[in-house]
Amino acid sequence: MNKIGIIGTGYVGLTTGVALASLGHKVICVDKDKEKMNNLNRGIIPIYEPGLEDLLNTYKANIEFTSDFSRIIQKSEIIFICVGTPSKEDGSIDMSYFREAVTEIAKLLNDYKIIVNKSTVPVGTGDWVKKEIGKYYKGGFSVVSNPEFLREGSALKDFLEPDRVVIGVEDERSKEIMLEIYSKIDAPKLITDIRSAEMIKYAANAFLAMKISFINEIANICEKVGADVKKVAEGIGLDKRIGPYFLNAGIGYGGSCFPKDIDGLLMIANNHNYDFKLLKAVAEVNEYQQEKFVKKIIDILIKEKGDTVAICGLAFKPNTDDVRKSPALKIIRRLVEEGYKVKAYDPKAIENAEEELQILSKKYLENISFCNDPYGAAKKADVLALVTEWSEFYNLDMNKIKSLMRKPYFLDGRNQFDPKEMRKLGFYYEGIGRK
Ligand code: NAD
Repeated sequence: MNKIGIIGTGYVGLTTGVALASLGHKVICVDKDKEKMNNLNRGIIPIYEPGLEDLLNTYKANIEFTSDFSRIIQKSEIIFICVGTPSKEDGSIDMSYFREAVTEIAKLLNDYKIIVNKSTVPVGTGDWVKKEIGKYYKGGFSVVSNPEFLREGSALKDFLEPDRVVIGVEDERSKEIMLEIYSKIDAPKLITDIRSAEMIKYAANAFLAMKISFINEIANICEKVGADVKKVAEGIGLDKRIGPYFLNAGIGYGGSCFPKDIDGLLMIANNHNYDFKLLKAVAEVNEYQQEKFVKKIIDILIKEKGDTVAICGLAFKPNTDDVRKSPALKIIRRLVEEGYKVKAYDPKAIENAEEELQILSKKYLENISFCNDPYGAAKKADVLALVTEWSEFYNLDMNKIKSLMRKPYFLDGRNQFDPKEMRKLGFYYEGIGRK
């Protein structure tokens, strides 16, 4: 059992805290958002993540939530920093939350602790942490980089059954303790230096985003030559050198990680005078894919003299309520700015989407309505655009959807449905890169 402090109790911090508590560690989570911590102490979970609430209830004796920073310094031997590192407007990384957390630790430190960076941070941040802490505290401490690879929607499983655990260390003492923390996790533990661990996180996300943009470009060519990208993806994915994952053609990636980490790695490269051409293209293709989808919708609206679009799915992917950099919001924004009306539905993310869209002016907001189910969204819509592939959409009564719509145009941005079956039902159906 280790005594672990977590700074930043968001998607990563809360999952890490609950998962480590379930492994038998004593965990204290701190966050500067007092309301969030008060809610957690009352059993109210701030995010939707499958299994999280149950696991927290089972292991609540092992986990404490506080807004008092000094408690985690008193009570823990290892401190995981899990605060957000979002993108700024110009694509550079906003390190202000991270710096604030480190400086706070530095000021309070009074004996040996291991400071673990779990947030995704630019290469070289570990060195900065050492310097910053050294300004305030002259005793011994270790800095570790332990990037996180969990995916929202399957965060607990990803944390507890990961493909690997990456640990960037510089001394034996912290290496042994980190291995002890993860001893119950059955996965390869890769020990590296700190900079390599920091780089692994960016390289992994860049590679995955590249796979998505690659298959999207193949899908676009499939549309021109009359091939089916699903079959093509299956055919290439069976090759072990390629693998089947991240080859789902669609309207591209979103979320709080891929777009920001691609921008972050481009910035790191740029700061070192390196022109990362391939990664620039990955981001460009992603933008294009979403714009192309918007154009398809608008072309139908113009042709049919329609004005209303049903958007099914708002979260950036299924099984989460996270709408940060969600393609759905971008599509909605583009449509209302072009003067169209949007009726939107999502099983979990409506509240977050409403909040995020508040940046739009009143005139645009008036053209967006949120519905209680997909049928409400489909009613009198000229086009239905499926943007997030929630599994509940498989159970929809498609005949009912069709009968509610003004014209049965179904644009499947995630290739969730079978084109032949949808056309047999009477929809004008179009997927991405499919016949
Ligand atoms: P988040 O925005 O959900 O949570 C961050 C939390 O940190 C918030 O609750 C915020 O109030 C708190 N916070 C900010 N500054 C603080 C401070 N100084 N002291 C205490 N609390 C503070 O962010 P997230 O999605 O959990 O991401 C955290 C980090 O993990 C990021 O660097 C992200 O890139 C990385 N990451 C995220 C995911 C993911 O799927 N969300 C996956 C892997 C890695």
